[in-house]
Amino acid sequence: MPRITDITATVTRPATENLVVVRVLTDEPGLHGLGCATFTQRYTAVVEAITRHLRPLLLGRDADRITELWRLMHFNGYWRGGPVLNNAISGIDQALWDIKGKAAGLPVYQLLGGKVREAAAVYQHAAGPDPESLVRSVRTIVERGVRHVRCQIAAAPHASAETLAANVAGYGGLGQTARRPDGALPGAYFDPAAYEREVLAGLEALRSELGDGVELLHDVHSRLSPDQARRFARDLEPYRLFFLEDPLPIELLHRFVDLRAATVTPLAVGELFTQPSQWLPLVTGRQIDFLRLHVSAVGGLTPAIQAAQLCEVFGVRTAFHGPKDTSPVGHAAQLHLDVATPAFGIQEFAPFNAAEHEIFTGLPELRDGYLYPNDQPGLGIEMDDKAARRYPPQNPVIRWTQARLPDGGLNPP
Ligand code: MG
Repeated sequence: MPRITDITATVTRPATENLVVVRVLTDEPGLHGLGCATFTQRYTAVVEAITRHLRPLLLGRDADRITELWRLMHFNGYWRGGPVLNNAISGIDQALWDIKGKAAGLPVYQLLGGKVREAAAVYQHAAGPDPESLVRSVRTIVERGVRHVRCQIAAAPHASAETLAANVAGYGGLGQTARRPDGALPGAYFDPAAYEREVLAGLEALRSELGDGVELLHDVHSRLSPDQARRFARDLEPYRLFFLEDPLPIELLHRFVDLRAATVTPLAVGELFTQPSQWLPLVTGRQIDFLRLHVSAVGGLTPAIQAAQLCEVFGVRTAFHGPKDTSPVGHAAQLHLDVATPAFGIQEFAPFNAAEHEIFTGLPELRDGYLYPNDQPGLGIEMDDKAARRYPPQNPVIRWTQARLPDGGLNPP
């Protein structure tokens, strides 16, 4: 039985986000595991939770008892849940699954019942300031073999820095030219009506230029009110979206029942979820089509496996969150679940850059629109700590969450 001898947390920034990667060491020579604990916006809090609270709790314990240790970590602070503590638990949880697979000589997908598919279909992100640029951006991705593309109308390249910051993923809505009252606070201004018109024009251009052979997705990023979201989802129906992401903010999850009743556009939500009470009514009440958990934010593979099983029973599909604020270790971990769960729908993915290849070996491989795990024992991914330290974290004030409506009020990000 391998006993836990140390737990470390490494913060590295090989691309645009601070990543937190946990390493759990054991008393068996060479037997260690990696896990993703990336809450990029509050990474120092996660590192403290791991090194000052969870490490002393777990030293000397049996690394084989994943469920026991998950529950121990979850209950230990008495107040539980939330993205900081869940990410801390996730880093250790994923590392324990990695250790169990290595000890057994099996890839983690084998521990989950084996593959039900060879690879996970991915979607990638396309954006442009106008319909023509958006069509070009989508075409570039489709030509690489990816058949699912999330399409956003982004701010123009000449837009102000604050608009670009808010529109980094392309949320349109006129940006700095939107109306505002005298004395309005700085921020990235967003006009919901203009946004709806821009997106509909973009999708019209995409369907007329590219036809029906590509699956189109769109992310509202919670920026509409329930009445706007209902109308928008109905207006989108002729374009046959693969799904509409985050039409409402998590503060208004109880309004999904109205949205479901109003439209046949497939609905996806979940990247901000941290506890089962948030997704349970949506899944069991058949109010959504895709559950988009950020696996580290819910506490790692152990709760994500449970959620996938629940989705399977209710005919909801998974679409785990996977932009650059999921570390390569997190991608490897969720990919093992993607290929093993019948509930899999699609995987969000952005290709790894040179620095990520420098730090990590055994990265999942993207070929012709499918992401493949390797067949090494455990999660199949390793980290070079020295290389990771060459890319130190940054801690700027976060501006992209400061979107504002035409009356000057903050809009949910
Ligand atoms: Mg999203």
